[in-house]
Amino acid sequence: MYKFFKHSLLIGIIGIIFCIVVFVTNIFHNLVMPLIENTGLEGTSLSVVDSIISALPLLLIIPLVIYIIAGHIYVQRHLENAEAKASRKLLKENAAKQVVLDDKVDFLKHKYYSNCPNCGSVRVEDERECKFCGTSLVIK
Ligand SMILES: [Zn+2]
Repeated sequence: MYKFFKHSLLIGIIGIIFCIVVFVTNIFHNLVMPLIENTGLEGTSLSVVDSIISALPLLLIIPLVIYIIAGHIYVQRHLENAEAKASRKLLKENAAKQVVLDDKVDFLKHKYYSNCPNCGSVRVEDERECKFCGTSLVIK
């Protein structure tokens, strides 16, 4: 869908210019009218068909304009959605980083025994609890 609308402005303008050129030069009319005249159509019906065929390139401009406007709206929404998605991802990542930082801050707030007060084993760096008996190494 995005590919369909991505270049709608450029394609639409080229299409409109093409329609105007076809209308002004009357190419389409000159090609099609002889075929219709061969069908034996006469009088009012022929002149109605004649004017419809003359105006057809101009009528084609309407869907092209709609294509340009719809494309503009779609692309805008598409970009907004992509932006919102990126923001949500960033917020999620920041929240995860914040959790890690909060944990570090909490760790640094306390002082720790160098040996377990329960079993006496030496505390290894970054430990909060004794790895042998599970006793808290925080000095209260
Ligand atoms: Zn211990």
